[in-house]
Amino acid sequence: MINAGNAEGRKAPVYSLVIPIFNEEAVLPLLVRRITTLLDSLDASAEAIFVDDGSRDTSVIFLRGMAAGEPRFKLIELSRNFGHQIAITAGMDAAAGDAVIVMDADLQDPPEVVLDLVAKWKEGYEIVYARRIKREGETLLKRLTASLFYRVLEQMTSVTIPRDVGDFRLVGRKALETFKRMPERDRFVRGMFGWMGFKQTAVAFERPVRAAGETKYPFWKMVRLAVHGIVSFSDKPLRLALWAGIAISGVAALLGFYALFSWLFVSSVVHGWTSTVVIISFLSGINLFMTGVIGLYVGGIHAEVKRRPLYVVDRLTGFEEAIAAMSR
Ligand code: UDP
Ligand code: MG
Repeated sequence: MINAGNAEGRKAPVYSLVIPIFNEEAVLPLLVRRITTLLDSLDASAEAIFVDDGSRDTSVIFLRGMAAGEPRFKLIELSRNFGHQIAITAGMDAAAGDAVIVMDADLQDPPEVVLDLVAKWKEGYEIVYARRIKREGETLLKRLTASLFYRVLEQMTSVTIPRDVGDFRLVGRKALETFKRMPERDRFVRGMFGWMGFKQTAVAFERPVRAAGETKYPFWKMVRLAVHGIVSFSDKPLRLALWAGIAISGVAALLGFYALFSWLFVSSVVHGWTSTVVIISFLSGINLFMTGVIGLYVGGIHAEVKRRPLYVVDRLTGFEEAIAAMSR
């Protein structure tokens, strides 16, 4: 684990911002300006932890310069692209503040909203998430798939995962420590915070369009996040196999009776291969599907038992005790 430098005698900041960065060179200058304004307008000391998730553009160079020149800026460089959810985790592991705020780099999570999150935290809420009441400029496909996903997830899991909430949120120290004790590989961060309980509330905001650059969440990455979310928070797909098995066995039994009946009472019936083919292919389809579902879970178990570190840190800038160790 990264040593957050929370040693005695050194003053830890009250607020930590965690910002994952993946190829964000187009938006970084603007982001840094807006974050600086935010840091200045917060009512207590704050740090901004940028987590470079293996960017292949000039983001890192820019951020290294920023972190070297401004003591409130810190940079964690991961050794490769580990994905958004893991980048967030790395940043939260390093955060020293009493309240940690996670936000996207592209200014779709407006820094000003952080002040509202903080106000709620001061009222005594441990987790304050930002709910999107309007999503500007996002494609119809994205909005449809997102809303479908939240609905399906709601049906499938017993954990309350708030709708229309991304990873933009504030978490207090207690929630953060709880989060750090959750070592799962298959990370669906918003679900994990839903699971842990505590006093939670929402702040509404209108989600603007990305300030610059392109989305780092192409369609397939979104599908993967959705599948992870469902598999790590629900065992319903596994139980689906049972019910599908029962239903199909029922149908097969009826067909069997029908075949027997025709063989006994209907003369000269050659039962064609058509029905056989239909039944066999149908059953193998179901079989394959269910094997796939089970495979998802087995794959999850496989990833867990390997006990690899969640991420690998390449380099730290701005952390005074730059213990370049990593992992949990
Ligand atoms: N991101 C990341 N690693 C990735 C993909 C994205 O750290 O593999 C970061 C990205 O830089 C941004 C945030 O995650 O700060 C959200 O990405 P994006 O804005 O592209 O997603 P969208 O808003 O389009 O869903
Ligand atoms: Mg975005």
